[in-house]
Amino acid sequence: MGTIVAKFGGTSLADGQQFAKVVRIIKEDPDRRFIVPSAPGRSKVHDHKVTDLLYLCHSHVAQSLPFDDVFGHVAERYKLIISELGVKLDLGPKLREIRTRIKGGASSDYAASRGEYLSGTVLAALLDVPFVDPAEVIRFGEDGRLDADATQRLMEKRLGPLDGAVVPGFYGSKPDGEICVFSRGGSDVTGALVARGVDADVYENWTDVSGLRMADPRIVPNPERIDTLTYRELRELSYMGASVLHDEAVFPVRLAGIPVHIRNTNNSKDEGTKIVHEAAPSDRNGGLSGIAGKRDFTVIALEKALMNQELGFGRRVLDVIADHGISYEHTPTGIDSLSVVIDSRQLDGKLNAVVSDLKAQCRPDVLEVYPNMALIAVVGRAMAHRPGVAARVFASLADERINVRMIDQGSSEINIILGVETRDFERSVRAIYRAFLGK
Ligand code: ASP
Repeated sequence: MGTIVAKFGGTSLADGQQFAKVVRIIKEDPDRRFIVPSAPGRSKVHDHKVTDLLYLCHSHVAQSLPFDDVFGHVAERYKLIISELGVKLDLGPKLREIRTRIKGGASSDYAASRGEYLSGTVLAALLDVPFVDPAEVIRFGEDGRLDADATQRLMEKRLGPLDGAVVPGFYGSKPDGEICVFSRGGSDVTGALVARGVDADVYENWTDVSGLRMADPRIVPNPERIDTLTYRELRELSYMGASVLHDEAVFPVRLAGIPVHIRNTNNSKDEGTKIVHEAAPSDRNGGLSGIAGKRDFTVIALEKALMNQELGFGRRVLDVIADHGISYEHTPTGIDSLSVVIDSRQLDGKLNAVVSDLKAQCRPDVLEVYPNMALIAVVGRAMAHRPGVAARVFASLADERINVRMIDQGSSEINIILGVETRDFERSVRAIYRAFLGK
């Protein structure tokens, strides 16, 4: 028997009908043994996420405002789900306990975690499998950060002997039992930790899209689905803003070499996207795996004759940046030039001081600041083996008369990062996409 860990996101569990789809999907494959649910999310009918409502309950209590109405919405969501499913389950005592604890001043993490807790309770009853409270198996340290080693030990011990279980997403506990949650969207992380904990063959992440797209659909109409992606490519694309998985969710499964399969609860026959440790370079789509990008960067460009012979020039530049508590994204260099690319928010209120310190400590011949830059990552594992990819990228931009202000290629040669002005950003993404996909 194989082992699949299947995580279902909030839209997959937004109402009774969605719960029914999830149960059907789980039952279709007996290997789907460990199930990680989110709290009910938004749907056509419900425009609130249960987690948002629970945070709201907590802040009402913290500000001594009546919270019965908000809590009533939460209780109503679950009652509706249960009645739509026709399952015999009385959540009354649990809802009363949660209400009492939130009213009594329980932490916001406790309040927020109850959405997943209740989803898990319903799903375990529907599937008739054990409910394992993540407070038992996901351990946070006193500083509120995940203790990955302790978690792995607890998972192996508690889940190892079971044939299957429902383990709600998003939360765990500190050693003293206090509930802690991950950052928003954190059920993805729980799914990855459970997958590692039970040494799963696959971590299925069920959501409301059929996998990752080769470009942002808000920029490129109806972009192609990515069939297979390596963890490294995913890291490049998600760093640049392509999001399907919580950032931290990749690390546990990557460490254990477990593939992730992103799938669509509403179109369960769709292939989705597979994320794997290694994949043969593919010539499909001219070797391009995906394009992603982010706006709002500032480039500080320094030029100095014979920079290459000046010992410590780069270090001094980066020291100034670090002394202002700023982290940088890239440092593309030329023979006599060095640029530092910084997320513009980091420079808020600091730019003038940074520039004058750079001038004083590095004495460049020219220092220029380019605000409003966008970075675009063109990613493809086939790039390293395939000549002409860069030529195609640059030709497509030249044809559109787009000025490329910066170029950076990672040493792994699976990406090219380009800097263009923010106003050229969307046009650039479309031009590159067209150059490879022909549309
Ligand atoms: N329910 C939590 C949130 O809305 C966690 C999750 O769904 O992954 O952020």
